[in-house]
Amino acid sequence: MGVVALSEIVLTAEYSLMSDYRGSEFLGFAACAPKIVPDWLYRLVVCPPVPRHNGVVKYAPGGTRKIEAALLEKGFDVVVAHPDQLNKVIDNETKVLGITSNDPLGIGPASSTFSSLMGKETYSAIFFRKLITNPIIKDNGLKTIVGGPGAWQLADDSVRKQLEIDCVVVGEGERTAVKVFEKALKGETLPGIVEGEVVPVEEIPSIKHATINGIVEIARGCGRGCEFCVPTLRYFRCRPIDKILEEVKVNLDAGLDRILLHAEDVLRYGAKSIIPDEAKVLKLFEEVKKVTGWGAYISHFAFASAMAKPELIKQLKELMEVPSRKIPWIAGQVGIETGSPRLIEKNMRGKVAPFKPEQWPEVVIEAHKLLHDNCWVPCSTLIMGLPGEKPEDVVKTIELVEELKEYKSLIVPLFFVPLGVLSEARRFTVNDMMPEHWKLLAACVKHDLKWIDELAKDEFRSFVHRIMLEKVFIGFIKRGLKPYLRAMEQGLNPLQM
Ligand code: SF4
Repeated sequence: MGVVALSEIVLTAEYSLMSDYRGSEFLGFAACAPKIVPDWLYRLVVCPPVPRHNGVVKYAPGGTRKIEAALLEKGFDVVVAHPDQLNKVIDNETKVLGITSNDPLGIGPASSTFSSLMGKETYSAIFFRKLITNPIIKDNGLKTIVGGPGAWQLADDSVRKQLEIDCVVVGEGERTAVKVFEKALKGETLPGIVEGEVVPVEEIPSIKHATINGIVEIARGCGRGCEFCVPTLRYFRCRPIDKILEEVKVNLDAGLDRILLHAEDVLRYGAKSIIPDEAKVLKLFEEVKKVTGWGAYISHFAFASAMAKPELIKQLKELMEVPSRKIPWIAGQVGIETGSPRLIEKNMRGKVAPFKPEQWPEVVIEAHKLLHDNCWVPCSTLIMGLPGEKPEDVVKTIELVEELKEYKSLIVPLFFVPLGVLSEARRFTVNDMMPEHWKLLAACVKHDLKWIDELAKDEFRSFVHRIMLEKVFIGFIKRGLKPYLRAMEQGLNPLQM
């Protein structure tokens, strides 16, 4: 890479998004972690920065790359830079700074849970504030446009004013954000907040440069319609295989040896209904395998899809020849959310389709058996404090977690955050926790501690990373949690003891 030509538009993201988390899907949760170790240690062990040259990053978040591609296709001049090195790419030619953020205020479901429990601000919020208050923005009179999955956190006028953000784009950006950038370059007044138009699948641009961890979007939206989920996931669209392969090649050409296929439910790629279309999914993975030589990692899937087509789980394992040194297991994020059929019926009937709400605990257990037998590892979320949740609902979730203890997996309990249809509901906090919630938290901690060593052994095969993460970081977490666990198991708040 030679000297970088300075551009009118610079894109960046908060520091915690500009890391590959050492290639670990599980460590990615650390982006939402509260600040419990000094910045330098967090950066060194968990969240090293992506490679960059003269401020320009080699790899960037998938969402940033999509906006970059949309801007490039419209003929704009744009670079994607590391937030610590904006001074290397910004000068008086630069007019606009676009920022991607997952969690600008640290109030997303994962971050608000961890920060509330630990009483500390999250790294994501700290890094976003550091970025948005960087004096280089004012010194150069830049317009700031913020987007990304956490943009909803900046909907409040007073927050935007306080942080001096010119415009926030909530939702999809390839159509709407590009128009906003255009306005900013013309010096026009920007709307404080704008909702991104849903982009038709044929208009979703292909990335021009590599993404962190080789993330490639295969489908957008979900369509299961859980009431607590962001509305932007309502419309489900799948990208054609040739476009997906184009992005896989961009990443491989940039030197990446891992590809991660992203969708809210990878198993529903190409499906015309809620039931997976096995042939479409297998065809996609076969084509990707021809290019990568081994297959691909995946981001998310759904237990209901796995159980609707259990053979597909086995077929994907066989196709990718798992377990291997390259891919010891197929890991993906997935939602259990609750063990209470009553709450499923009330808030998320679509999540369990084609099964019925009363079948949900059984579906989750059977899915874990199926996945365990086929070298899949779910990293699941649970929601505490859904509107109308009663102690008996939480007890059902505890019982479900206990049924899962023999299956290699991680379970992450999260506080309910009012979003989507439930945006008017009350945010759940540590002060709202009933004794049953503490017991549920204890059950999840015990489950995760049981599996974390084995997962870390497979995940971090380099000796140095193993020592740093297994012995230092995980050891630190284990030692830190032990004294609290006994109190939680008794339904007590350990923070008040
Ligand atoms: S299944 Fe997941 S992504 Fe889809 S609507 Fe429900 S919570 Fe959202």
